[in-house]
Amino acid sequence: MRTFALAVLLIGYLTAPLAAETPKYAIAIHGGAGGDPARWTPKQRTARKAALTRVLKLGVGVLEGGGSSLDAVERVIRELEDDPIFNAGRGAVLNSEGGAELDASIMDGRTKACGAVASVRIAKNPISLARLVMTETRHVLLAAHGADRFAEEMKVDLVDNDYFRTDAQIKRWKAIKAKEQGTVGCVALDSHGNLAAGTSTGGLMNKKYGRVGDSPIIGAGTYADNRTCAVSCTGVGEHYIRHAIAHDVSARMEYKQQSLRAAAHAAMHKTLKPGMGGIIAVDKDGNIALDFNTAGMSRAAADANGKWIVELGSRKPDSR
Ligand code: ASP
Repeated sequence: MRTFALAVLLIGYLTAPLAAETPKYAIAIHGGAGGDPARWTPKQRTARKAALTRVLKLGVGVLEGGGSSLDAVERVIRELEDDPIFNAGRGAVLNSEGGAELDASIMDGRTKACGAVASVRIAKNPISLARLVMTETRHVLLAAHGADRFAEEMKVDLVDNDYFRTDAQIKRWKAIKAKEQGTVGCVALDSHGNLAAGTSTGGLMNKKYGRVGDSPIIGAGTYADNRTCAVSCTGVGEHYIRHAIAHDVSARMEYKQQSLRAAAHAAMHKTLKPGMGGIIAVDKDGNIALDFNTAGMSRAAADANGKWIVELGSRKPDSR
């Protein structure tokens, strides 16, 4: 009897710290997986890390204050859209005609509600317009002129398309460097146990006018389900659409009972070919995956247990 009581106590002692380890919130952010950070100037690397640190603090602030994962995702992505360093919002890459056509999506893992915009030209913050598609319409995806008209109706901040076309991107567009990537994304678990994901991009440099990538496609570039995980992708969108990568990570967890990191790793390294891009994900237990198969991915992550990651290059502390 005494031995039994001791064993019960011991089991309780051993499992208590494990139970306490589940973080109350977790957040991960990406700023694209294109380019090789080793080839950037120290100034460029410092600026990127500073921007990621700034938005990570912002997202953590929302979650620590008991805010929703949806709010954290939208706030973080708005900031990244406003920062010309990243290929989303201001500073987006330009299409074959030299214009900016932006894509974004957001998803609520609690209700599976989602909203997206594709090829939009005048909304200052496409991620907020995507959220309005989710909350103010019965649709999931609005595109091009219709989405621009919806932006006018919703009275969101509007800008001239030139606002997005920074001198740096015009210069690069003139040099026609194709395949440039630098999309932004955010996934979060809030203290209420709800997951959310969002992604925003200018797409691929020199893309054909009208081309839509994976970022506004639910299940390809963005996905969230409270039962599994929240995912945001970056990379050559056509491949992410073809393989429904964001949903694939969730499905692997649901149908194969894979861990978040195993699921993200399989999608990134088995399904996709090397050099395609990256993925960030957080699961319902607060686990975080940051994985990529390019030379680097601008990324940041934090949780309530003190995790704090801001990285650009190939060191992958959390990929497996
Ligand atoms: N996935 C984006 C697209 O194909 C680009 C990127 O992530 O950089 O539009």
